Amino acid sequence: MPGSRRRAGEVRVPEHTQGRRVAVVGSLVLDLTLWVPHFPRRGETLHPTRFEIFAGGKGFNQAVTARRLGAHVSMVGRVGNDAFADRFAQLLDREGIEHRHVVRDEQLGTSLGIPLIDPQGENCIVGVPLANTRLSAADVEAARAQVESSQVLLLQMEVPFAACLRAAEIARQAGASVVFNPAPAHPDARGFLERGPQGADLIDWLIANEVEAEMLSGIRVDGLGAARQAARALVARGLRRGAVVTLGAQGAVAVTPQVERHVPAFPVQAVDPTGAGDAFCGAWAVALAEGLSLEDSLRFANAAGALCVTQAGAEPSLPRREAVDAFLAAHRAGRRAD
Ligand code: ADP
Repeated sequence: MPGSRRRAGEVRVPEHTQGRRVAVVGSLVLDLTLWVPHFPRRGETLHPTRFEIFAGGKGFNQAVTARRLGAHVSMVGRVGNDAFADRFAQLLDREGIEHRHVVRDEQLGTSLGIPLIDPQGENCIVGVPLANTRLSAADVEAARAQVESSQVLLLQMEVPFAACLRAAEIARQAGASVVFNPAPAHPDARGFLERGPQGADLIDWLIANEVEAEMLSGIRVDGLGAARQAARALVARGLRRGAVVTLGAQGAVAVTPQVERHVPAFPVQAVDPTGAGDAFCGAWAVALAEGLSLEDSLRFANAAGALCVTQAGAEPSLPRREAVDAFLAAHRAGRRAD
């Protein structure tokens, strides 16, 4: 494996990391999570054994991660004009995330997810996208100053592509790096892989999991070799810097026109994979804003992903900077002791 000379967990953080700023243009979703004795049959009325409301959405999760890892974060999105939106406003305040450009939609409510979880831990989800579907290029334009003043812009696929495109154009003109996470896998994401000024020229880093990488590259991704191949194919479309394919318990591989790096996952006791991809992307944005090397960025984001899977739920498991730093230091110490 090329380029694995640095010890696992070692991250070189430049001295002047103050003032790093990340903008997230993306989704906010409230999950009304129901634990049920079994999945309902047609016509059946069920009573859950437990009910919890979790805040999420890929945009929200990535914003929370970037904030918890030390960046100043501006969130741009749409919620309804309802009590769920009040809840989001409180949560964003609590996290210290700027949200004056999280617009309240007068017609559609806050986007909801209704996951049912059975005693085996299997789930099925009814998604109700609502306000997220109405985030517009004009909403993003209104947040131009937030995007322009950020070093990194983070985008996903849970809001309309037109909003993502405008955000990427603003960031590009301002010289900010654009990180695009084409999740969930959706054919519209191919727009950012067309050659040219409204496509791949706008994207610095594309971060995809195996499913997304497969959909976008057309290459079947079933392991490290195929992931490298898919990443190479994505880079060949003209991305400005490179592509990362995340591989769950196998870590992640990054490919640029010059180098390829695979960093294995940290061995942890995985409890719940929910949110791991978001933790990885949020951490990648912070690493980029801090100017970490490619390998350090991979280790930092791998550590954030690993910590995320050790706890249940998404938002509660998104890691804080102290935890990631301590985790990396412990792994570094472990390696030294070997
Ligand atoms: P997604 O959640 O988008 O499907 P992945 O499952 O690839 O994304 O996970 C993202 C990252 O989280 C991985 O690249 C890895 O760094 C970390 N991760 C995920 N699962 C595990 C695991 N079981 N053990 C350690 N790290 C993990």
